[in-house]
Amino acid sequence: MNSILSSILVAVIAAAVVTTVANTCTTVYLHRGLSHRALTLRPSVAWVFRALIWLTTGIKPKEWVAVHRKHHAFTDSEGDPHSPVLLGWKRVQKGNVMLYREALADKSIIDKYARDLPDDKWDRMFFGHNKTGLVTGIIILMVVLGPWTGLLAAFIHANVYLAVNAGVNALGHHFGRRPYANQATNLQWLAFLTMGEGLHNNHHAAPSSPRLSHKRGQIDPGWWVISTLKTFRLATLRFNDVRLSRAARTGAA
Ligand SMILES: [Zn+2]
Ligand SMILES: [Zn+2]
Repeated sequence: MNSILSSILVAVIAAAVVTTVANTCTTVYLHRGLSHRALTLRPSVAWVFRALIWLTTGIKPKEWVAVHRKHHAFTDSEGDPHSPVLLGWKRVQKGNVMLYREALADKSIIDKYARDLPDDKWDRMFFGHNKTGLVTGIIILMVVLGPWTGLLAAFIHANVYLAVNAGVNALGHHFGRRPYANQATNLQWLAFLTMGEGLHNNHHAAPSSPRLSHKRGQIDPGWWVISTLKTFRLATLRFNDVRLSRAARTGAA
């Protein structure tokens, strides 16, 4: 009995570590870096983030970026791939992955929104094969932790990662504070679970800023990672401070 409990505990701790790594890569690399060019990573660092996102999520960066940029282009209006205003927050929360797939079924989306991210040799060899990444990640967990503990860790990680990131698109456009006049919301508890992404109202007001916390008391763990990378000259920032969009400055939605 004790060994079963200790295996479960190990799986939970391992899943927490893997989910934190995946969320860090999602917010720093996929979102703030590639989608909004709010920071530029040294090529070697970008490669590490790319490998980690492949192993922990199987996401193809250009696909995530295309869907996300379309979300910003049509936020909460016709054309937004995952708007709770159009679809209801429950449908976005439960069907987030499906909504990404539906958006990507339109092949022109990559050409329109992610033309700056063409496939390279690494995509052709590894990163363009998302199932290979996921299976490799699961095998690594099984080898390191033992087969059942590794599988359980992968299962917990997958569910938590999908739930909290769906939460940014669903809860983060429905519940919470709106200091700026846009439909997105700030949820600090969700920001803790997503390395800062829960400060989503701030993000929509200043999409090209690398920092998502705008006021004292708001906590953006992703910014700690970015500041550390900057200190060691591993990343350069587009803006050193928060730069509001014109719509946010003029108070338009
Ligand atoms: Zn949004
Ligand atoms: Zn964004």
